[in-house]
Amino acid sequence: MKILKKDIGKIIIVVLVVIICLIPFRKKIIRKMKAIFGYYKNSSGFQSAECINCPNLFNDLVADHEKAYSNKQGIEPQEDFNKLDNLLKDSILLELKTNNYYTIRESESSRPYILPRGFDFIQELSKLYMCNCSKDSIPYVPFEITSTTRTLESVRKLMRKNKNAIKTSAHLKGKTFDISYRAFRENKKQCKNFIQALDSLHNMKKCYVKFEKNGCLHITVD
Ligand SMILES: [Zn+2]
Repeated sequence: MKILKKDIGKIIIVVLVVIICLIPFRKKIIRKMKAIFGYYKNSSGFQSAECINCPNLFNDLVADHEKAYSNKQGIEPQEDFNKLDNLLKDSILLELKTNNYYTIRESESSRPYILPRGFDFIQELSKLYMCNCSKDSIPYVPFEITSTTRTLESVRKLMRKNKNAIKTSAHLKGKTFDISYRAFRENKKQCKNFIQALDSLHNMKKCYVKFEKNGCLHITVD
């Protein structure tokens, strides 16, 4: 017991000496630590592990997504959720609900409402992904939609926290949504099959997709 206490004392002294020696290099160390942990925190590292090609496959920029809204194909940005609810009541927007094919994540900043074109696209994506799973003889795992249509008010609130939530957000216009592939978690084969399905539709020019470092795929239906 005495030896143990002695050893602990020595360990503490060694640790203190190491800390003191490292003080001049603290800024460099902090930068390195931030780079390493940030890599996982912003999930790009984690994402890349599950979606290695995403940054290459899906790099449509804001201007590309805008093309989907040329010719006024979209709703006017709405001030708040009450206004958005009115568009749902008028059947201009359709509500996405969790089902066997996808789940809707609760979101304070958006409502799971989308234009019929976007609604149809999501059904097509589900079917294609399901076909891929069948071909690979793996069970289907629902994908997760994390954000759909926002309002001017919700974007203003979001902008305080999230720099990506730009004022001219495509999410204001009714056929843009985000899917988290991190939500596939350990289901890597399903994630791969989902990405393949999305890539097929992307190659068919049915959508614009942007890989985002926050863990989402930002999708606008054309
Ligand atoms: Zn988005």
